[in-house]
Amino acid sequence: MHRHSDLPKAFADLGIEVRFLKALRKMEFSKPSEIQVRMIPPALDGHDILGQARTGTGKTAAFGLPILQKLDPARRLQAICLAPTRELAVQVSGELKRLAEFANLHVVTVYGGQKIATQLHQLGRKPHFVVGTPGRLMDFMRRGALDISNVRFAVLDEVDRMLDIGFRDDIREILSRITGAHQTILVSATISDEIRRLSKKYMSEPVEIDVSRDKITVDEVDQTYVTVESCDKSRLLRMVLEQERPPVCIVFCNTKAMARKLAGRLHDAGLNVKEIHGDLMQRKRERVMDLFRRHKINVLVATDLAARGIDVSKISHIINYDIPADPEIYVHRIGRTARMGERGTAITFVTRDEGKELTNVEMLINREIPARDMSGFKPSPPREQVKEPPPPAPPSRYETPVVETAAGAPIKAQPKTLGSRFRTSRRRRRL
Ligand code: AMP
Repeated sequence: MHRHSDLPKAFADLGIEVRFLKALRKMEFSKPSEIQVRMIPPALDGHDILGQARTGTGKTAAFGLPILQKLDPARRLQAICLAPTRELAVQVSGELKRLAEFANLHVVTVYGGQKIATQLHQLGRKPHFVVGTPGRLMDFMRRGALDISNVRFAVLDEVDRMLDIGFRDDIREILSRITGAHQTILVSATISDEIRRLSKKYMSEPVEIDVSRDKITVDEVDQTYVTVESCDKSRLLRMVLEQERPPVCIVFCNTKAMARKLAGRLHDAGLNVKEIHGDLMQRKRERVMDLFRRHKINVLVATDLAARGIDVSKISHIINYDIPADPEIYVHRIGRTARMGERGTAITFVTRDEGKELTNVEMLINREIPARDMSGFKPSPPREQVKEPPPPAPPSRYETPVVETAAGAPIKAQPKTLGSRFRTSRRRRRL
């Protein structure tokens, strides 16, 4: 039997009502996270908010709780939330539904890849809050199935990603269709000039909240890198997985093709692995996410876009099979582990040509990432470098003249030595 004294008092102190405190108790949120402490009171006061926070900080409840609390159960659609991907839309609406469990409020999710008819039917059930990807929301608005002109709350989640994906025009169009007085909350891991321009245009005197500093990579993540040749990466990965035996791990690749190839190899090697990337049908992606969420798969091979907003608690390891070119993406990736104060491990594979990318990450996070000791790993022997030159072609009138070095010696490829291949690249990176 629950008593009111069990309710999370720290949330009550922020102004959250009992009907939501009950949900928080059920979700086992006992203490608000930093963004929740800082966002809930001004949001309840009706301020527009520009929040800099990444996934994993508790941002969903930070905007979700105050908005849900201010919704009138007797009125229909009053709030929308735009999210860059289906996965994030499903995750955000899932969290809002859990928060609203005792509040008699109805949340609906719309996103591409699922039947229009099903979502139309759900919209017909007069939701209070609609969460969706911009493209699908626009689609419903054009069909006249969704009228957002009178919503009182608009949230834009992961705005940086929405702009990256190219939802620029849709976002502007959606925001300009809200004609009544409304409160806008914008959340993004990074705040670019373009996002500032958006906020100037569509928000009024926003309160700025930044929880990205200092915690740009959570201290609880144990971060290391390993220098490796591209051709050795999958063998190295198997060795790392063997050593670490991660209970819940995401391996990030930079491309869909690589994710597909790697997942196939790991699968063939007998590992409990699945892949998630943009080439998979929506239904398959949902199935994979569900298995991963229930910890039925240990290793998920993913691309960044497909993995946006993956909401799986207790991810123990992030492996950057490919280091991303954009250091912000590194931060996004490793932010998926060590959530809410738990420890996590991030291991990044770096080829000899990628020292610059690693340095960029270190500059962004303002710390040096140590090399991981993989002394037990035997790199493949260097490939045959010096091939017999092809027989000289018969002389031709059109042949370009042969250029010789100053000494007149032919230029030969230098065979690579193991030493030079695995010499740590830190010094060179610094130069
Ligand atoms: P978010 O950044 O909103 O994606 O949240 C990251 C994860 O933390 C989600 O699994 C949330 O359910 C969880 N979470 C959010 N706030 C809290 C809290 N105050 N206490 C415990 N878990 C939380």
